[in-house]
Amino acid sequence: QVSRQGGGDFCLYDPQMSADLREQTLLVADLRQAIDKGQLELYFQPKVDAKTLHITAAEALLRWHHPERGHVSPAIFIPLAERNGLISAIGNWVIDEACRVAGHWRELGLRMRVAVNISGYQMRQEDLVERIESALSRHHLQPGRFTCEITESVAMEDTKGTQQTFERMRAMGLHVSIDDFGTGYSSLATLRRLPASELKVDRAFVSDLADSEDARSIAASIIGLAKALNFKVVAEGVETEQQSQLLMRMGCDELQGFLFSRPIPAAEMERLALAAPSETSGPGFSDSLFN
Ligand code: C2E
Ligand code: MG
Ligand code: MG
Ligand code: MG
Repeated sequence: QVSRQGGGDFCLYDPQMSADLREQTLLVADLRQAIDKGQLELYFQPKVDAKTLHITAAEALLRWHHPERGHVSPAIFIPLAERNGLISAIGNWVIDEACRVAGHWRELGLRMRVAVNISGYQMRQEDLVERIESALSRHHLQPGRFTCEITESVAMEDTKGTQQTFERMRAMGLHVSIDDFGTGYSSLATLRRLPASELKVDRAFVSDLADSEDARSIAASIIGLAKALNFKVVAEGVETEQQSQLLMRMGCDELQGFLFSRPIPAAEMERLALAAPSETSGPGFSDSLFN
């Protein structure tokens, strides 16, 4: 047994590593069955207009209720699904389920969009947009009601597959949002060419706003850049009133975060949206509705 000796030595056998590997293998096996066993659920988190606090959209966030492990974070199992060929099945389920829920909202007269996170592997799949198209038509939704959230690092990949998918999204009239913006390495030329209409400022820049002059400068320049390129700007991870005020003054169009609502089950999202005034129904949200 060669153990890890500090600074990145190559190790032939590490008992901890093999335990992690075994653990992952078990998790992958369970994940393979999670859809069939009904253990996956979509939660939804509202995006609100910074001025009126009206709900403009709801982002679908995947939840896995594992019978023994309890809640497993998508930050863990999505990358696992990507590496193990499970992301198509899961991603397709998410697309269909999000459209089903959004179709129900539409029937209730709710006007918010639904936003779905799309992974790198999905972006490289040839039939992604057809999948979205058929889910939309199955649930009688217009493409303009559906937003694809794609992280900045995936959006900047200039693989042929990813760029073709962007073209198909544009042709179909889907909304595209660049997620976790500020964490990748955007080329301005590429950014301008993308068929995206929205940028989401990464939570990292939002969380330090109150305490750090640097964070404020960075946030302000990201927002300025986004506006100059005609993107709608959404800030994610807004937790405090102070952050919300600062972001609004910097010109953020929409806000999202625990301050307004945590991700909640579809039925709760529906109640929240029905209780809240919308574009068509009068004055803004009272804060109490968010708690
Ligand atoms: P994301 O798309 O950037 O989603 C935002 C994450 O931040 C979510 O974590 C959300 O619960 C969390 N969040 C929202 N507001 C706040 C806040 O005010 N404070 C803090 N501390 N956190 C906040 P979650 O649900 O654990 O998802 C993590 C990531 O997993 C997502 O990041 C997304 O990249 C990925 N993911 C989730 N669902 C899906 C899915 O259906 N498909 C794909 N491909 N990826 C997904
Ligand atoms: Mg997202
Ligand atoms: Mg994000
Ligand atoms: Mg994120």
